Amino acid sequence: MKKIIPYGHQWIDNEDIKAVVKVLKSDWLTQGPVVEEFEKSIAKYCGVKYAVAFSSGTSALYSAYMAGELKEGDEVITTPLTFAATSNMICFCHAKPVFADIEKDTLNIDPKDILKKITKKTRAIATVDFAGNPCNYQEIFKIAKDNDLLLIEDACHAFGAQYKGKKTGSFADMTIFSFHPVKHITTGEGGMVVTNNKVFFERLKLIRNHGMIKKPENGPWYFEIENPSFNFRITDIQCALGLSQLNKIEKFIAKRKEIAKIYTESFKNIEGIIIPTEEHLAKSSWHIYPIRVNAEKRMKIFEMLQKDGIKVHVHYMPLHLHPFYKKQFGYKEGDFKNAEEYYNSAITIPLFPKMTKKEINYVISFVKKAVLKNR
Ligand SMILES: *Cc1c(COP(=O)(O)O)cnc(C)c1O
Repeated sequence: MKKIIPYGHQWIDNEDIKAVVKVLKSDWLTQGPVVEEFEKSIAKYCGVKYAVAFSSGTSALYSAYMAGELKEGDEVITTPLTFAATSNMICFCHAKPVFADIEKDTLNIDPKDILKKITKKTRAIATVDFAGNPCNYQEIFKIAKDNDLLLIEDACHAFGAQYKGKKTGSFADMTIFSFHPVKHITTGEGGMVVTNNKVFFERLKLIRNHGMIKKPENGPWYFEIENPSFNFRITDIQCALGLSQLNKIEKFIAKRKEIAKIYTESFKNIEGIIIPTEEHLAKSSWHIYPIRVNAEKRMKIFEMLQKDGIKVHVHYMPLHLHPFYKKQFGYKEGDFKNAEEYYNSAITIPLFPKMTKKEINYVISFVKKAVLKNR
């Protein structure tokens, strides 16, 4: 049987399984002491004061926007090149996502285009560290400060990445991580918001749990609702997995960097392949490795690799091209040239810590072969 190599895959070992089973045998299953332990460990890892765990990266994003008090009439400047949740959740707060184009080389939101999109209604900037590569925060911080805007960082691609020697999570007003199985560490489904702001921290905990404000002075059962919310809780079962995964984060990131380096060395002189570049003050944690090929031959190359068992993928169709965004906000083809040009030529090739030398070499030789035939 031919080997199938996915574009991303989790790493689960016996330690992980033991940690989960231990919780299954305990008295607490849903949100309990292990959730809090996981939050404290993530906060420590990122070098921040507070962390609040959620049922997914998506519910974490929604809660961060709600904690930032986004409301109808507000505009949030964000990138069209991201997973839909970054922007979908802005819409669920009745705010408007205003896209700014990406930089051709880093694939991250272009600070120069952010400046052009600021209006009286702009409340926040929501950045995405595409592929694990932190944005140009030197510029973006200045823009946020000068214009009194909230900076929310969707770092779902970039857990453990660094900018100017500081880890993601430690510089924006709020930073969001996802623990989906293709991400750096997994809890099955899960997410986290980290922040140094106590007000956001308190709001996030309420938003996670129906908006229930406990007032024990009125009785142990007593709570009040000021703003109704959802059940976005994560479980102790999942956070036991998260804690055990966090023990391996240095190894996971080192592996990802090593594979990215091998790819870069192998492809940098190949005509017909454009390799991803890192922002100059950043250290990527390499969530994915997106290459660019001749747009007219992209489909052909993609299909060849799929046939060879290499489950390549495309991240992402720019959000302004989705029917909802066209209909709701009037976006159209041609609005964000760099994002569209990237999308038309992009292929994400496999990158995950458990890849063997043999699998890496297999991917390299078949990518080269497919591109040489189709440039
Ligand atoms: C994975 C991801 C999310 C959503 O995370 P889930 O845990 O799947 O809800 C949001 N934004 C980006 C950029 C992501 O990659």
